[in-house]
Amino acid sequence: MNILKTKKIISFVICVIFVSALFGITSDAKEKENKKYIALTFDDGPHPVYTAKILDILEEKKIAATFFIVGFRAELHPDALKRMKKLDCEIGNHTYSHADLSGNNVKNGVTYEIEKCSEAIFAATGEYPVVYRPPFGKISKANEKRVPLKKILWTVDSLDWNIKNKDKVIRNVVKNVKDGSIILMHDFYESTLRALPDIIEVLSDEGYEFVTVSELAALKKISHLQEYFLD
Ligand SMILES: [Zn+2]
Repeated sequence: MNILKTKKIISFVICVIFVSALFGITSDAKEKENKKYIALTFDDGPHPVYTAKILDILEEKKIAATFFIVGFRAELHPDALKRMKKLDCEIGNHTYSHADLSGNNVKNGVTYEIEKCSEAIFAATGEYPVVYRPPFGKISKANEKRVPLKKILWTVDSLDWNIKNKDKVIRNVVKNVKDGSIILMHDFYESTLRALPDIIEVLSDEGYEFVTVSELAALKKISHLQEYFLD
């Protein structure tokens, strides 16, 4: 085989590799675009019993979720946060004492509530949170300016805090979920814990993938209500 022929063959092979790699990348991107993603979120923990059991389920099903934790409880149960991080879950700030941030007179002040919670998360995991969820989903415009984190609310409310009934919790989530949904639950009730395996199973069967809220934002799947997060 002469040198010219060999060179031609080599450049042909390189070309084929390049084109197929390119196709691979675009089909990967397409596939990601077509997939359905949702984020499970759990507020108010860590709970001394239920959080660990919820983490057991997430570990077994190999899915990640987001926990909006209360600072003083994080100080009591730092191991729960360590495990969340190990399981690639995201940890968000839910204030130090579950403070109502909707009014002008926040006891201890907005900055204290947010910073002290972030410090508790850092003490347990070595990382500061980038997202927060105001307790009760409410924060005044003035207070919002004092929080240097990205606000995440929700688009589907399981109402677990109110109904405390496994089947109703499952129904509230499953019937309202769509691509880009952020689902509000609490790692604080037995009914939530009991509903979780069914919720994961039904939604997995429907083709949903479970991601953290920051992953959902990166995928630009986050629904309209969460626009704030994308800027
Ligand atoms: Zn809460």
